[in-house]
Amino acid sequence: RGSCASDSSDSVISTGSEPESPVYKVVLLGEHGVGKSSLARVFGGVEDACHDWDEAGNTYDRSIVVDEEESSIVLYDIWEQDNSLWLQDQCMRMGDAYIIVYSVTDKSSFEKASELRIQLRRARQSENIPIILVGNKSDLVRSREVSVDEGSACAVVFDCKFIETSASLHHNVHDLFEGIVRQIRLRKDSKEE
Ligand code: GDP
Ligand code: MG
Repeated sequence: RGSCASDSSDSVISTGSEPESPVYKVVLLGEHGVGKSSLARVFGGVEDACHDWDEAGNTYDRSIVVDEEESSIVLYDIWEQDNSLWLQDQCMRMGDAYIIVYSVTDKSSFEKASELRIQLRRARQSENIPIILVGNKSDLVRSREVSVDEGSACAVVFDCKFIETSASLHHNVHDLFEGIVRQIRLRKDSKEE
């Protein structure tokens, strides 16, 4: 088996992309149930009707125009695919950027996000990889366990960006992916100087 993306259980959903535009690999990390696959489906423009998507890993390929410039994102929702340490290790190495997701209704998923950030730092020591910390399920107001302030304070400590989203309401999901593209471009530009 070559890489995460070529695993036979992957299905690639392409909504068309220019061959010329740069391709960025973005990897979703986070505890089970926080909404990684839901966010990926919103990004990929897949209707929610089909529930079979849930367990298998999926890869979504889409182009996105940010600041009048087109980029392609390949989004990997494979973190939980077969719970193999080998695959998780690959995930930590392959991304151009990472989305670390927790649920605002689940404190332990927030703590897990910190662990993942530390793991990522260890795997990619000297690299300055773009990371966005995402507090998902912001629509579930009454069962919230993690405040916006806690989330953004955590992002400051981790030196990464922060956004709250609701995959259910599609709230801030587009902003999340725009933010990822902007961050990747920023780091690329500063490297080239
Ligand atoms: P994953 O295990 O991280 O891939 O999480 P899923 O995307 O499978 O989502 C787990 C559950 O949370 C599912 O029942 C989703 O419908 C639900 N869910 C995901 N995102 C949201 C959200 O933003 N709001 C609400 N209310 N439920 C969500
Ligand atoms: Mg999932």
